[in-house]
Amino acid sequence: NELGEPQTGVIISRFGQHADVEAEDASIHRCNLRRSIDSLVCGDKVLWREGKKTQHSVTGIIEAVHERDSMLSRPDVYDGLKPIAANISQILIVSSVLPAFNSDIIDRYLVAAEQTGITPVIVLNKTDLLTELDESEQQEIEAQLQIYRDIGYQVLYASSKASEGISELKSQLSAHTSIFVGQSGVGKSTLVNALMPNLGLLTQEVSENSGLGQHTTTVARLYHFDDGGDLIDSPGIREFGLWHLTPEQVYQGFIEFEPFLGLCKFRDCKHQTDPGCALVEASNNNKITAKRLTSFQRILASLGENKLTSRFND
Ligand code: GDP
Ligand code: ZN
Repeated sequence: NELGEPQTGVIISRFGQHADVEAEDASIHRCNLRRSIDSLVCGDKVLWREGKKTQHSVTGIIEAVHERDSMLSRPDVYDGLKPIAANISQILIVSSVLPAFNSDIIDRYLVAAEQTGITPVIVLNKTDLLTELDESEQQEIEAQLQIYRDIGYQVLYASSKASEGISELKSQLSAHTSIFVGQSGVGKSTLVNALMPNLGLLTQEVSENSGLGQHTTTVARLYHFDDGGDLIDSPGIREFGLWHLTPEQVYQGFIEFEPFLGLCKFRDCKHQTDPGCALVEASNNNKITAKRLTSFQRILASLGENKLTSRFND
């Protein structure tokens, strides 16, 4: 009763029984969900109808969810896979000069990204600090970035401090819904602030409009970059890549190993010192890099440990 015409919108935040929908005119509306909707997350495109404003400031109802292009889920002890955000089109894997550039960590994020089917892009951040490294250390970083380019990944450089690479980053973000992942301290928040100076204002606005307060910090939230493109962020999303992986997923995540899949002599090959390992042979013949093989072996070896320490598996 007294509902407006169906219109399209985007879920900018989902919590409890409600969701905040952004209408095409950029206004934000807290909505209830039709009971027929069994899954709704940040980033979902929806059909919704505006209703009367109530004392709980719920002003609409979500009727239907559009088919998703992608889904980011994390393993959950109780639910199997727990959806976090939909329609992300790009994962920016941020690394830095300091904390020291670490390709093993990048590889781990790449494995997790490949698992989702969402395109990863590698960012070397804090390039202003490159001059503080020895020539050989700089060359080492560049050699490793070249390995990623050779595999087919896009690599960007950025420095919030020196305002380097920011315009390239802006154009990379403009037609996408992105998430930023990477070790703590690599400069993700600083980059986001540089790309979205009005973020503080924006969150405030949402809180006032919808009565939404603290929730915003724990659940995934969609923001707009000032120069186009969207960002989805939450503490859970920042832990992306640290989730449990299976050996098969790790293999699939090293995309250049694909031609050698199934070619090891033993079906249960651990790809370490096993005789007739196709990956060791490929590395010896320079068909894959020794660097990536070592990283692959280290990730495989770490899976047992992660099982014991991961917060999602205990
Ligand atoms: P996050 O944990 O990835 O979000 O990293 P932060 O954005 O909090 O940054 C961590 C530290 O790196 C802070 O002390 C920043 O001031 C610093 N930082 C961020 N960007 C740059 C940069 O481009 N160059 C330099 N030299 N320092 C930076
Ligand atoms: Zn093998």
